[in-house]
Formats: sequence, C-alpha cells, structure tokens
Amino acid sequence: VQSASAQRSRYPDVLELRTEPPAGKSITGNVFSDKGAWHAYALPLRKEDNGAFIGPLLMDMSGKWLSGSFSRLSLFENDQNIDLAAAKATATYYPGLLQQDLEVAGLVIRQQLIFVSNREALLYTGVVNKTGRARHLELRYSGQSQGITAVRNAIQVQGFAITFPEKTMLMADSLQYVAKWDVAIPAGGKYEQTQVQAYFPDGVRPARRYDFADELKKNETRWNGYLARYFPPASKLTAPEKRLAVKCMVTLMTNWRSASKDILHDGVFPSVNYQGFYGVWSWDSWKQAAGLATFFPQLAKDNMRCMFDYQDEHGMIADCIYADKKENNWRDTKPPLAAWAVWEIYRHTKDAAFVREMWPKLVRYHEWWYQHRDHDRNGLCEYGATDGTRVAAAWESGMDNAVRFDSAVMLQNGKGAWSLNQESVDLNAYLYAEKLYLSKLAAVAGSRGDVYRSEAEKLRQRISAQFYDERRGYFYDRLLGAPGHVAVDGPEGWIPLWAGVATPQQAAAVKEKMASPEKFSTKIPLPTLAADHPAFDPMKGYWRGPVWLDQFAFGTEGLRKYGYSTLAAKLEAQLLEQAEGMLTDGPVYENYHPLSGKGLNARNFSWSAAHLLMILKNK
Ligand code: BGC
Repeated sequence: VQSASAQRSRYPDVLELRTEPPAGKSITGNVFSDKGAWHAYALPLRKEDNGAFIGPLLMDMSGKWLSGSFSRLSLFENDQNIDLAAAKATATYYPGLLQQDLEVAGLVIRQQLIFVSNREALLYTGVVNKTGRARHLELRYSGQSQGITAVRNAIQVQGFAITFPEKTMLMADSLQYVAKWDVAIPAGGKYEQTQVQAYFPDGVRPARRYDFADELKKNETRWNGYLARYFPPASKLTAPEKRLAVKCMVTLMTNWRSASKDILHDGVFPSVNYQGFYGVWSWDSWKQAAGLATFFPQLAKDNMRCMFDYQDEHGMIADCIYADKKENNWRDTKPPLAAWAVWEIYRHTKDAAFVREMWPKLVRYHEWWYQHRDHDRNGLCEYGATDGTRVAAAWESGMDNAVRFDSAVMLQNGKGAWSLNQESVDLNAYLYAEKLYLSKLAAVAGSRGDVYRSEAEKLRQRISAQFYDERRGYFYDRLLGAPGHVAVDGPEGWIPLWAGVATPQQAAAVKEKMASPEKFSTKIPLPTLAADHPAFDPMKGYWRGPVWLDQFAFGTEGLRKYGYSTLAAKLEAQLLEQAEGMLTDGPVYENYHPLSGKGLNARNFSWSAAHLLMILKNK
C-alpha cells in the first residue's frame, strides 16, 4: 500500500498553470512537460478558453509558441454551438497530468493530457451523456498556426504533428485546421477519443500506437513512484513543504529535455522560461543531478552523461552544450562539483556500475584543473579561460560578475590555457572535497584512490592556512605573487565550511558573519555579497547581492557540519517562509532579493528546485 504522501492525486496545482493564450514570443507563465519532450502546454485561465489547451510551446535552440491554443474543443448539437464558456469548469494540474472538467447542457466532458514518450503527448477527450435521451453531437478540435499540412487523419506543422483517430473529418489549409466527429451518445453513455501530439525537433517522426487507459495508469504509477521514492513513509514535512517538494520535482521534470540532435543523453535545461538557457550547463547539471537523485536517479545519471559525452582530449568539460554543438561554449568550464554529484547518485542508488563508468572521466576532469588552471604550479588553482578573456574566466567561477573578480587580470599558462591572477578559495575547497569524493568513489569502483586522500589532507592544511584572514575572520581569494587577500565578503568564504577544511575556530568566525544582519543574515539570508558592501545591488546585481540557492544550501550545510544546526534551521525557515511564492503555487526563481524576498531572474529554475529538494530531504 502506498503512503498518502506518495499519491499524485493529493498534489493538485502545486504550480499555477492557468494562463491566457500567450501573445508574442515571451514565455512568462508556467508550463508543463514530461518525459524529456521538447514541447510543453499550460491550462486555460479565461472561461472563453474552456476546452482549449494553451500552447504548445515548441523548443529547440530557442522556444516558440506554435499557437496560443492549438487544440481547442467545441461542440455542436443541431448546428447550434454548445457554449463551453458557460460550462461549470475546472482546470487542474496534477504532477504529470493536465485535466479539464466541464459540465454543460447535460454533458460531462473530461480532457486529459499526458506525455507518453520523449516526443509524444496524448490528448484524451471523454464526453458522458447525463441526460435521459440520446444525443447527436458534432465534436470539433481546431487551431491556427502557419504552414499546416494535412495527410489522411493527421496534420503537421513546424515539426509538430497531431494524429487524430481513424474516421476523422479533417479540413485544413495552411493557416488552420478543423477536425470533426459526428457522435451519437445514448442516454447515460460515453464517447471517448485520443489524439497523439508529437514534436520531433530532430526530424524523426515517431509512429506508435497507444491505449490511453493503459498509458494513464502507467503515468500515474510512474509519478507515484517518484513521490514514494522522495517521501519516507512517515515524512515529517508539513503539508505546504510537501507541496513545495512536489513543485520542485515538476519544475525539474518540465525542464527535462531528452537526447536530440547533438545532445546525446537526456539533460535538463536551467529554465524553460528563459530562451538564453536552451542548453545544458555543467555545474547546473551537477546540482540538478544531486537533486534528481532524491526521486529520479536515472535522469540524474543521464544528465551527467550528457555533459561528459563532450569531455575533450584534455579532460575539460564545456561550460554548456546545445542541440547544435557548434554553439557549445568551450571558453571556460564551471566549478568542480561533478564527483560530489556522482557520490550523491551513488548514495541514493548504490549503483556501482555507474561509479565505474564515471570514475575515469572524473579523474581526468579533476587532473585537468591542475594541468590547465594552476599558473604557478603550487597546487592551488585559479579560475580561467581557454580564450584569455576575463569575462570567460569569471563565467568559469559560475558567478559571472562577482565583485571579487573586478580588478583581476589574465595570465597565460600555456596554449589555450589562462588563469585569473587570483587563487579562489571556493575552487580549491571544491577541489579538496572532490579529492575526498574521488577516494570514496575509488573504493566503490575498485580503483586506487588513496593518493586523493593524502593530497586532500595536504590541501586542507594549505587552504586553512593561506585563504583565511585572521584579522577579518573570513576566507577570501588570494592574489598570485602578492601578499594579502581579495577581501570581499561573499559566499565563497563559507565553502571551506561546506567542504570541511576550516578549523573549528575559523568556522566560528565565519559563522559570526553569516549570522550578522549587516552582512549575510538578511530577510532571505546568505546573499551573494555582504549587504554592507558598497557594490551590493540585489535588483540588478545578479551575483552581487541576490540569494542563489546553491550558495545558500552550501552555507547551511557548512554550518551544520560545524555544529551550528540551530542557526542553519533558522536560515532555512527564513528562506522557505519569506521567499516569494515558495510555499504557494508560484514558480521557483533563479534567485531572490535578500531584503524583500522578491523572486528574481529566470522562473522555474532547475538548480533552485534541486537544492530545495535536498534541503527538504534533510529536514
Ligand atoms: C550563471 C551560471 C549558470 C548559467 C546557467 C549563468 O548566468 O551565472 O552560474 O551556470 O547561468 O544557469
């Protein structure tokens, strides 16, 4: 028997999906996709859109709405339109399922939309005749777009196709289609039909047949399975926290894109809402994978594989990859959290074969840093770039415009390898943690990893001694060949706590800053720049003030590691209770305003969802 928390029917509308048909190109509202499909839908908000599904949104290298509502139901009886706008109507988003229920003129209509493959959704329509007499109806679906062609019982437009049931009367020109059925429903009887809606950006049109009832059952079992995997039978989470967890799951699932064109394994977009993010990023993937491991480890593994498919001959991983590999960004990589993510996947699955598969790749990536990003060969690395630009080097840190890099300059290490002239504390702390993860993974993979344990111990002492500023009581980046630190108070200063390299005394001092309302204990705590810094700019700052949930989570995890659990719990409560939309049906944002709690930048952001899942899982 499944526990109540593991039933998707208990989680209606964790994310508001009702919207007006979009006009223009922008993707502001929330949408729904599943199974790694490259198309998405939403639910109607206005009563004149009853019976219509919003979209589809088609994705590839960028996104576009095929139409505001390309599947619009209408019903006629004796040539009279039955006004669906007058129906008693509900539109509900269950995890993995869109549903509309309409009651009008003695008819009970149900429409359901689920994804059945990485290219196909099924749209089911059921009409029950509640009256005591037989009804003769004409049922129609219609829509408008540009470039429609019709063949037999199917239409195709811009790589998207709808296959209607056999015996459909189909009329189409290049701008619109109308599909019609004459149906006779006896008193108390039911009419049902299913159409397949496929989008295939790679040009390979699937041709499968589906039984809707079977598929709906499979869909429910699959989703209940995710929930059962995430929620322990006696979950201590509150009802709103459970809904938040489910919202985070659907956020990641809607951002899931299956292998297509040059993306060779399934991956996850940072955000379906932001077209600049229609690719797969490296450190996003490591964080997404660690979060996905809590409920869908198979996708977590593929998300890692899809980045490592492009590991180059030097061991480097690209910053990001796209369905068109010409767009892949090789100017920089991103912080080394890959071994951490593989460990997280292993912790949840005990899948040693996956560890054996990843082990040599992780080792090559780890070693790459020391060969290409250690300018003075002292065993402490710098962020850098392949093209010698400071902007790419700052991207490599993942914190594009962080204040600590404002006056950095580039140093050449070798052919196609440059470093910033500063050794970053977060980078070296991540590399320390990676050495420990590599040694643990080695044991699982049956490889020799002792060297990483001894290297880690040496590195721990050096980070603790050289990146810590006694007077200021905080960890900072250090300049190469010059004394002193880059004394900007940012989240990199608490990564030594997350990694476990700080001494207890150092951790106590760092904790003071994290707990200080002038610095990091803002309304939404742990911003990416201390609130008393002159450059602190939460509205426009990007990495100069907004709270990013990866750095937030590394902060509270670091505090717990050193025994400050009460403070960590307090900071988490502030985030959950005060960040915009968090415990309601609003989207999870890329980052949050530390003083007002307002959600900022991209909506439905994958790594925010992933870290929230981890935060809630550890509660
Ligand atoms: C962020 C990076 C991130 C990328 C994709 C950038 O704007 O600064 O850290 O990897 O977006 O989400």
